[in-house]
Amino acid sequence: MYCANCGKENGDGVVFCANCGKSPNEAAVTTVDKINRVERVTLSGGIIGAFVTNARSALEVKMWALNAEGWKCRQVIPEHSLNGFKMLLQLLVLICTLFLWTFEPGYLLLLEKDK
Ligand SMILES: [Zn+2]
Repeated sequence: MYCANCGKENGDGVVFCANCGKSPNEAAVTTVDKINRVERVTLSGGIIGAFVTNARSALEVKMWALNAEGWKCRQVIPEHSLNGFKMLLQLLVLICTLFLWTFEPGYLLLLEKDK
């Protein structure tokens, strides 16, 4: 019989696999012990954004809050481009706020936490 855990062939009726030592009748139980989550960090644009936007501190503040909840950051993905609709919306917000503020592409944080 073939081991359900590692695939190695063992003699019939063996209790433990000669290769991996597990019971060849039982498939490896893979437990999912991590949970993942994606968080967005938005940045400000416009005149206000030009003064207050600091990508480093925006990420830092977000990370502090998430670390306090036990989340660990696995990856930071910059949001490069806005699609056409978002760009239009971004411009509209900028005009509506008299060029004071609009949103800017920020970052996506890939987070992980132990269950
Ligand atoms: Zn095995």
